[in-house]
Amino acid sequence: MPQARSLIWFRSDLRVRDNTALFNACRRAGGRSGAGVVGVFLISPGEWRAHDCAPVRVDLILRSLAELSTSLAELNIPLVIESAPDAAGIPAILAALAKKHQCVELHFNKEHELNESRRDEAVVAAFRKAGLQPFAHTDQVCFEPGTIRTGEGRFFTIYSPFKRACFKQWDAIGGTPALAAPSPQAEISITSSPAPRSIDGWKSNVPPERWPAGESAALKRLKSFARQSIIEYKDRRDIPSIDGTSQLSPYLTVGCISHRQCIEAAIEANLAANPKLKGNPLENGSAGPVHWISEVLWREFYIHVMVGFPRICMHRAFQPATEAIRWDDNPKRFEAWKAGRTGVPIVDAGMRQLLRDGWMHNRVRMIVAMYFTKDLFLDWRTGEKWFMQHLVDGFLASNNGGWQWSASTGTDAAPYFRIFNTYNQSEKFDPDGKYIREFVPELRDVQGEAIHDPGRLPGLLRTRLDYPEPLVDRVKARDRAIEAFKRLR
Ligand SMILES: Cc1cc2nc3c(=O)[nH]c(=O)nc-3n(C[C@H](O)[C@H](O)[C@H](O)COP(=O)(O)OP(=O)(O)OC[C@H]3O[C@@H](n4cnc5c(N)ncnc54)[C@H](O)[C@@H]3O)c2cc1C
Repeated sequence: MPQARSLIWFRSDLRVRDNTALFNACRRAGGRSGAGVVGVFLISPGEWRAHDCAPVRVDLILRSLAELSTSLAELNIPLVIESAPDAAGIPAILAALAKKHQCVELHFNKEHELNESRRDEAVVAAFRKAGLQPFAHTDQVCFEPGTIRTGEGRFFTIYSPFKRACFKQWDAIGGTPALAAPSPQAEISITSSPAPRSIDGWKSNVPPERWPAGESAALKRLKSFARQSIIEYKDRRDIPSIDGTSQLSPYLTVGCISHRQCIEAAIEANLAANPKLKGNPLENGSAGPVHWISEVLWREFYIHVMVGFPRICMHRAFQPATEAIRWDDNPKRFEAWKAGRTGVPIVDAGMRQLLRDGWMHNRVRMIVAMYFTKDLFLDWRTGEKWFMQHLVDGFLASNNGGWQWSASTGTDAAPYFRIFNTYNQSEKFDPDGKYIREFVPELRDVQGEAIHDPGRLPGLLRTRLDYPEPLVDRVKARDRAIEAFKRLR
């Protein structure tokens, strides 16, 4: 019997529930006789290298891929795993796979980064040329980038009005419900490939138990967060020593879960706490779920910004005028920051959390990035790259957004004259020094406020610590950064 199968290309969407491309591929195939869906994943070390993908992220991808393969097998969808040494070879590899497995359609979910978009355009062109039908689905976001615009028709560059426009759009389209997993298809005789356990060059030092893999782990985490912690989120989200946030970012990055599923769970929690809630549940009701939804929408915002202003994918400042800043080139300071040996305890704790877990609490990300750009006066691009090389949730749009916010070069940037006082931040958000003591054991026995600034210890006690002196004088560094930004005006 002639076949009319669909190929679905999985990338950063390693799940079967609420997967727009999978859902549509199955729906279309269901209407054709002799049809079926074949999954493909391409191991692409060239792309990973070019985009500084961290070994801990590759490890999460591979382990999640193994679970995806099992879930797809339950739907009788085989998952073929192939290697693509670099992005340029991908159109030919996919077209050959389509031919081999008698597929007439290709479905994939859009990735919005510039290189990825260009790669996908080449794939679409190759399929059209071969007389096959490509379908690019919008899945990573609730609202298609470009559909949320200012009154003048521009992309938003400030978060709050963007968020309000999302609420309006959500009302207008009747919400953004998550899609169900497809039903099992008739068996097809294609064998799934085993998911590799590791790839040469990407050995992770983070124990796999730290980030249980796959869609099931992501859903479990979302469920328990929505049941136990979301209501108190607003009060607990800034304290790095407690599990006050969802830690779902790695799963959003590799696509084990979606924005829509997160928002749906938050709405459910909001309605459970407020059964008589009136108005849009994204913005009314309990502060915890409402605030958490607005964090998920920050991720959405940064994706929209990346599409509207693709220069940010090319290491360029969002605010072109700030390109004129001559950041210091100081390898010694850069090395000390990377190793968590700056002499500023909260910064060192954060940098060591990054090395240990491949993840860092959001408040501390802001502190270490602000310290890097304003106190050390180092180029935000090098800090951004180091984060990408070590984060399990490394995601260009959010990472770039966070770095450029901290450097005062981005959208919605912290005004250049508002520079975090690192010690005040430490006292405010880690008041008892619990977070510092966990990651900087040299300071475990330091009592009182000196945990935030060991320079406050009496001389003898300070010299007994195996802990470095601060790299810079904070006040002078602050004045210098402000001066550099003032010169741009
Ligand atoms: C310098 C810097 C670099 C960052 N790099 C990344 C990155 O590479 N990848 C990444 O996913 N996030 C990044 N963030 C954003 C944020 O720190 C993380 O998303 C958050 O810490 C993840 O923890 P969580 O899942 O427990 O968040 P929660 O507090 O539970 O929030 C829920 C979700 O909302 C989204 N979110 C929360 N805060 C932000 C934010 N400020 N910007 C964008 N999305 C947000 C995340 O997807 C997160 O999983 C960065 C922030 C800064 C300041």
